[in-house]
Amino acid sequence: MPIDLTDRIIQPPPKKAVKLHPLRRLAQVALGVLLVVLPLINWLRVDVTRGRFWILGQSFTAQNMILLFYICALGAVVLLSVSMVYGRWWCGWICPQTLASDFGDSLKTRIDLIFRASLGPAWGASARVLWKALMLVMAVVTAAVVCTYFYPASRVWISVFHPLSDHRVSSHLAIIAGVIGADLLWVRRHFCRRGCPYGLMLSLIGDKNTMTVRYLWERDDDCISCGQCVTVCPMSIDIKHGANQMECIGCGECIDACNDILPMIKSAPKAGLIELRYGLDPMRVTSRLNVFQKLGLWDARRYFLCGVVLLLFVGFYSEMFGSRATTITIVPSGTITQSDGCVFELYDLNIINGNPKDTSFTLSASGIDKMFLFHPGHVIRVARSGQKTVRITLAAPSKNLSLGQRYPINVTVQSLDSNQERRSVATIFYIPEQSTPLKAG
Ligand code: SF4
Ligand code: SF4
Repeated sequence: MPIDLTDRIIQPPPKKAVKLHPLRRLAQVALGVLLVVLPLINWLRVDVTRGRFWILGQSFTAQNMILLFYICALGAVVLLSVSMVYGRWWCGWICPQTLASDFGDSLKTRIDLIFRASLGPAWGASARVLWKALMLVMAVVTAAVVCTYFYPASRVWISVFHPLSDHRVSSHLAIIAGVIGADLLWVRRHFCRRGCPYGLMLSLIGDKNTMTVRYLWERDDDCISCGQCVTVCPMSIDIKHGANQMECIGCGECIDACNDILPMIKSAPKAGLIELRYGLDPMRVTSRLNVFQKLGLWDARRYFLCGVVLLLFVGFYSEMFGSRATTITIVPSGTITQSDGCVFELYDLNIINGNPKDTSFTLSASGIDKMFLFHPGHVIRVARSGQKTVRITLAAPSKNLSLGQRYPINVTVQSLDSNQERRSVATIFYIPEQSTPLKAG
């Protein structure tokens, strides 16, 4: 490849190379901690046994499934946007599969070093057994963390130590641990190379402005052919064979390795021979980019995706923290009795509290002269965003009723909080024909 001296002047070596490895590890540790903590503090959890879910500490029922839709849609669009702008950044820095592979590889290297130094020629088999045992422990712990997203943490951890105590949790735990264990022992980076659909998606959405790890061919004469960039690469590829290789996960380890080795050699040129840059255009000078280009906002496609993310976020925010209308439904139970000159009819009333806080409600009924409503307790308290079904009784004086008639009536629910929200629902108060005897109450 011919060396273009003009390009060398256009893209000078960086004054101070930023070390990426500690930043990557920090991101991975933060992600690991976040994944463990989120279900424990109820910031993201779905309790399959109780049909409820939690977001940011608030509890919701199945009626608020739209919130889960927003979270899934936001996750998908954010991932799409980040991939278009920052390329394989997700793979190398955030992806749990890479996190597990890095952990497994690093543990293996350390165990090998310790055993080789202490056991002599017989170190290999013992090191392998220990490593595999630790990987299986990690698989069980990871599976337990996954299960805490769907079952209470106490149930999950009791099942880890007493597998026969809860068959349902234990069976899910065993299946997930089996899958993760197989991944850790035999798959790891092979999945990134051959099985990951995200890599395929990236090759479709990436373009000339997507961030990529690039070897500066225009400075090829500066390379001292030390091979460090290949040695440290977790995917065992050579970045000098071209940017945008399918296997490259954008971890930046080769950048650090090259930046470390070059300054050690007196005759060698300055660092910056491998870099992270938007696109492959060698004429693009990092120092001359405007602030939006530095953030990766190069064209209308990227602005459009930012707009979609913003819209979804606004939708999620208003759904999450805004007030929703309280919903009530009423179903006659079919039980009709007569006593003391009154006809009594039982109904099941369901209240879905739309308020983002616990609310008390009172009930009333209208439609028939001197009719009245009663239920156990004077008020009905419903948890925030929750629902409650109560059995209520409507009664009306027999002298005001005609046999065989259906009377349209309204049941009204009024909240006792500051907004005094009132909701009414229509139903029928039915008096059977004379031939159908009323039960005595
Ligand atoms: S080529 Fe560099 S950025 Fe790509 S996977 Fe290897 S070390 Fe990471
Ligand atoms: S680490 Fe840098 S100097 Fe060494 S072979 Fe790779 S690109 Fe060349």
